[in-house]
Amino acid sequence: MKYLEEMIEREGRVLSGEILKVDKFINHCIDVDLFDKMGKAFHETFKDRGVTKILTLEVSGIGIAVMAGYHFKVPVVFAKKTVSKTLGSDVYRSSVYSFTKGVTYDIMVSRDFLCEDDRVLLIDDFLANGKALEGMIDIVKQADAQVVGIGIAIEKAFQAGGENIRKQGYDIRSLAVIDHFEDGKVVFASGD
Ligand code: 5GP
Repeated sequence: MKYLEEMIEREGRVLSGEILKVDKFINHCIDVDLFDKMGKAFHETFKDRGVTKILTLEVSGIGIAVMAGYHFKVPVVFAKKTVSKTLGSDVYRSSVYSFTKGVTYDIMVSRDFLCEDDRVLLIDDFLANGKALEGMIDIVKQADAQVVGIGIAIEKAFQAGGENIRKQGYDIRSLAVIDHFEDGKVVFASGD
């Protein structure tokens, strides 16, 4: 998606450790117009898959997932990372290693919000090593539901997640695909 690529070029910052900072429009301050365009793009790609629910991870995936949910007219469920009194114990649970934080944490979804009839679209802001997606896929499997597509805002193709998850047969649409970083600049893979 050209619009997102241009925004990354203009406003993104490459940090050490192969991390792209996009706080100005995705991770801290949200560009609502961009999020709407991303939601629309995911709807355009996956509208014929019979999506009944969108699943994402708190916190950064929520805004994008909500805009996608608005276009699909389906509920958005976000996996929680912290236990709370309101969550209860009847949950699907998986473990995720965070590439950016260097820690492993649990993600949880109440059994009330995913069932075996669900056809789930997974959404996240970044795809790096694929651990966040693997955790969400695990949760969907625990519910005996089906992942019918995956929508990612920014994929870093030089990390292994995209290839690994596509090899498992999942259909991923990434709106901006980064081939590599060079001298502090982003080099996009061709396409989309
Ligand atoms: P993965 O699980 O695919 O290794 O990493 C995906 C998760 O890590 C995303 O949910 C995202 O929050 C975070 N992440 C991975 N790479 C980056 C990055 O370059 N920049 C930012 N801001 N977050 C990232």
